[in-house]
Amino acid sequence: MIDINEAKCTGCALCSYVCPHGVIAVENGKARLANVERCIECGACQLNCDQGAIFVTKGTGCLVSIIKEDILKIKEKGCG
Ligand code: SF4
Ligand code: SF4
Repeated sequence: MIDINEAKCTGCALCSYVCPHGVIAVENGKARLANVERCIECGACQLNCDQGAIFVTKGTGCLVSIIKEDILKIKEKGCG
């Protein structure tokens, strides 16, 4: 899960630049989640926000779905 505290956001857009999946857009001087389903929870946005306006919680994004898919594929093949 990713959350942006709009009150803390200064609209610097650094989070948008560092996001590898185009999740964050800056409009009217504030960051917003434009494609939240594409978030892989890498944490780059949170690490680069010097205002502490972004919070990323592990465990609910598409990366988890990808990992689960991989595990299911392994099970389908009869491995492990
Ligand atoms: S890096 Fe932080 S302050 Fe800058 S636009 Fe993103 S959320 Fe706002
Ligand atoms: S956690 Fe990573 S993928 Fe998700 S919005 Fe932040 S920089 Fe983008």
